[in-house]
Amino acid sequence: MRSTMTGTVQVIECPDSMRELVRAAQSNGRRVGLVPTMGALHEGHLSLVRASTTECDVTAVTIFVNPSQFGANEDLDQYPRSLENDLAALESLAVEWVFAPQTAQMYGPGFSTWISPPEIAATLEGESRPGHFRGVCTIVLKLFQILPADIVYFGQKDYQQSQVIRAMARDLDLPIEVSVQPTVRESDGLALSSRNQYLNGADRQRALGLSRALQAAAAAVADGERSPQAVEQLMLSELRNAGVDEVEYAAVADAQTLAPVQNIDRPCVALIAARVGQTRLIDNRLFE
Ligand code: AMP
Repeated sequence: MRSTMTGTVQVIECPDSMRELVRAAQSNGRRVGLVPTMGALHEGHLSLVRASTTECDVTAVTIFVNPSQFGANEDLDQYPRSLENDLAALESLAVEWVFAPQTAQMYGPGFSTWISPPEIAATLEGESRPGHFRGVCTIVLKLFQILPADIVYFGQKDYQQSQVIRAMARDLDLPIEVSVQPTVRESDGLALSSRNQYLNGADRQRALGLSRALQAAAAAVADGERSPQAVEQLMLSELRNAGVDEVEYAAVADAQTLAPVQNIDRPCVALIAARVGQTRLIDNRLFE
């Protein structure tokens, strides 16, 4: 079991050691923040870390590429891994702990208990990626057991995921506050994602179609458009114009329940999933 200091960051592999550290800090009255990630850290992840280091006394970042949230034909094997760079970035933000377990420590022999995700997980990503949220909920609940933190930080970039976790925390009375932080974007609007590394130059340009379609949707709603179908058509045509033609969904939904709406007359969110080349990208935007 590894538990090493890299500069000022302590890297912990062992779940029991991790739990002891969290409990000891809390028994000394320290507020613990948790930032779950799959590594390949970028400024989006680091914005969550900054929120935690600002609001909490001690911050734990988890780095674990969770196999159970990937489908059989997805990119688990290619998923970028860059632990040394990640640790250097976290050290510069004065993170105390990085929990980076081996897969066998999270899914030991005979592992067979799974979380059945809340209803809000059934649509959108839940339809496009069967089993994804079962894997997400299970690993997140396990992380909450290993790191019983006071606040956990998620990104709005994965909007449905953040709502799924909120629903699970509510339904299962989990004693943790869920904080959702705004999406960090490149200056041209592309939402930061570990998967952007897969994009070649032309795909990188086409990928801008997602944020542009969402921007056009938000502008139409701000101008008084109230029909979700009209906004969805607008997003599809913006995506097509940008050269993005493999769209899995471009939808307008109730911001709380993610159910379809008849009219944009309450807080709503637009969500897109599309393939650009070989790369699957998601993005979303709340309507004000
Ligand atoms: P991942 O490593 O992709 O599982 O992401 C870990 C956390 O970082 C999740 O809560 C994501 O929503 C969040 N995240 C990913 N990209 C961004 C972004 N561009 N802005 C803000 N948060 C993000």
